[in-house]
Amino acid sequence: MLFLKQVAGDLFNLLFPELCHSCGEQIVHGEEMICTHCLYDLPYTDFHTFSDNAVARLFWGRMMCSNAMAMLYFRKGTKAQNLIHRLKYKSQPGLGLFLGRLLGERLLASGNYMDPEMIIPVPLHARKERARGYNQSQSIADGMASVLGIPVANAQLIRHRETPSQTKKGRYHRFENMQSVFSVPNPENISYKHILLVDDIITTGSTLEACGTTLLKSGAAKLSIVAVAFTV
Ligand SMILES: [Zn+2]
Repeated sequence: MLFLKQVAGDLFNLLFPELCHSCGEQIVHGEEMICTHCLYDLPYTDFHTFSDNAVARLFWGRMMCSNAMAMLYFRKGTKAQNLIHRLKYKSQPGLGLFLGRLLGERLLASGNYMDPEMIIPVPLHARKERARGYNQSQSIADGMASVLGIPVANAQLIRHRETPSQTKKGRYHRFENMQSVFSVPNPENISYKHILLVDDIITTGSTLEACGTTLLKSGAAKLSIVAVAFTV
């Protein structure tokens, strides 16, 4: 029976080959989402191994973070860009779960991220989440949770509007503009808690800063930040 299942599975794969989300080549039996070659070849930051990394430094003077890291360097035209693009725009929540598990394994190995009591993904605006069908940061958070054993608390942070386009404004105006985007509906649920905040990609850090300051103002005790990728 097991043999028949295997044959049926192989036949299915022959007719509908599963492709690597990173390079587009067919993945083989035993591989999942990303082929072995890409998995070894991705531009890993290793930021989980040192606390004085570029993501942590991005938030210095802006927000208190216990730990901060991103797993991959994001550059245009690279495999990391393919992954983020497919995660956001190609309806691939399973890829988010997979990347979340990869992240979780790194955090577990570093030992610096076991203190948080809840994982909160950066929320999407409800309209955008409906259109996309899922929140990619939540998929990542769910994958991390399955490895770390820390619960995901996605209802604890709400997004009231989409992030306004603000490229031409100064840093302080950007900050002010972002402060009313998020809120905490039940502050008692997060008070005195160490929160692990999760996003797909960090660019300026302004979205995470707005989420983080909202959580800290609402009574969270500590904050750690994790993302799949960091724009170089
Ligand atoms: Zn590949």
